[in-house]
Amino acid sequence: MKDRKKWSVFSIVMAVAVVAIVLSVVMMSLPTAQPDLSDDHAGYSYRPVSQQELAQMMSIQSDIHYGEAYPMGVSYPVTSSQTVNEQIKSFVDSQVEQFQTTIVSSSADESVGSSAELNIDYQLSCFNEDIVSILFHVQQNGGDSSGDGLAAMTFDLNGEKRMNLSDFFREGSGYEQYLLDKVQSSLRDQKVLDKKEKGPVSVDQLQNFMLDGDQIVFYFSPGSVADSSYGQLEVSIPLRLMHSFSYFQFDDAGTSVSSQPEAYPAVTQPESPQTSTGTKQIALTFDDGPYKNTEKVLDLLDQYNAKATFFVVGNRVEYFPETIRRMVSSGHCIGNHTYSHKRLDNLSPAQVSQQLTKTNEAVKEITGGYVPQYVRPPYGFYDHNIKTIDGMPVILWTVDPGDWSLKNTQKIAQGVIQNAKDGDIVILHEQLTQSVEATEIILQELTNQGFSFVTVDQLMDK
Ligand SMILES: [Zn+2]
Repeated sequence: MKDRKKWSVFSIVMAVAVVAIVLSVVMMSLPTAQPDLSDDHAGYSYRPVSQQELAQMMSIQSDIHYGEAYPMGVSYPVTSSQTVNEQIKSFVDSQVEQFQTTIVSSSADESVGSSAELNIDYQLSCFNEDIVSILFHVQQNGGDSSGDGLAAMTFDLNGEKRMNLSDFFREGSGYEQYLLDKVQSSLRDQKVLDKKEKGPVSVDQLQNFMLDGDQIVFYFSPGSVADSSYGQLEVSIPLRLMHSFSYFQFDDAGTSVSSQPEAYPAVTQPESPQTSTGTKQIALTFDDGPYKNTEKVLDLLDQYNAKATFFVVGNRVEYFPETIRRMVSSGHCIGNHTYSHKRLDNLSPAQVSQQLTKTNEAVKEITGGYVPQYVRPPYGFYDHNIKTIDGMPVILWTVDPGDWSLKNTQKIAQGVIQNAKDGDIVILHEQLTQSVEATEIILQELTNQGFSFVTVDQLMDK
């Protein structure tokens, strides 16, 4: 009896142990089916946010460098959080520093210097108005580290911190293996893995991700998970599939209402803009905007009954919809200065078209129909035998006061006033306060000298 009792106790203990082991193995290999109630994480609630709303939540900073040695067009978002902004800036600074070091070290090689460029542009996406992802597109020309790269980062604007993948998933839920399996099967579906290749094998390879609505998107640099001939790869997975073992929450009643942004009403252009009645005509052009300062320039132009041309950078346009609309309703001309201030001579014809088309579409959407007709190539770099690009006439300039290097109101103003003659096209950059101040002096002085200020369009019609 004693032995039997011992034996049955032993078998119960064994059975319990086996069940415990099996359960723990199952728990480790599969994401838990039920939310872990001991975890008091508040979770992240999904709310669709349109691109228009996102742009209204943020602003954009563009650092453009005109030095012949290393032309640089760098754009990045500015958020409501100072801490987040510092982290964004630190990423951008590291890219700039790397570029400058590369260019300096390879400056002996003239073939590098002649096409050198750093360009950084970005796309925004989000899970809700707090959890925002930035996908940086870094293009560097010149030196050994030439190339294209995508760098994604996600921030919690409310919590003011950068988010890692692990911040979104329940610890011990086995989400790592789940994601790796999903990514691998997607790469197999994309036919970029052969039978022997595994794709990403560690969660460390999944850190370049962004949240795009109710999807998570992973980016893989060429050669990192598949043959480099397939280039940059990406995999999207619906976040709803991970709802039980992540902190993503979907209140499907609330999110079924899609927040479709309202279309902008069309801006009415004045039929034939009246300008002052000077006998000589001159066209002021402003590059790289719009900026906050642009409103000040528009005020000055109104004051002198002057018209001007704004060569806008496409990625800035959606951040200043009212300024863009005011340009059109006041009878000014909007020109195309590419989408991300790219050197056109470093691009393929298809990429050039994309830079111009995206800008034209951004302006058209915000104005309800205005499409820029003229193009000004950034840095003036392009084949000067070409008169039109994609059917758009190229407009350069005849008077350049060099406002970028001078940064001096009087010198900028005098540089224009002393050289101005009938039919001239003047280049200025309105993000410089000194150029805005100089604009006032130029308007006053040249009006007195009998000039009228016209758009490039009006000048060409002459
Ligand atoms: Zn420019």
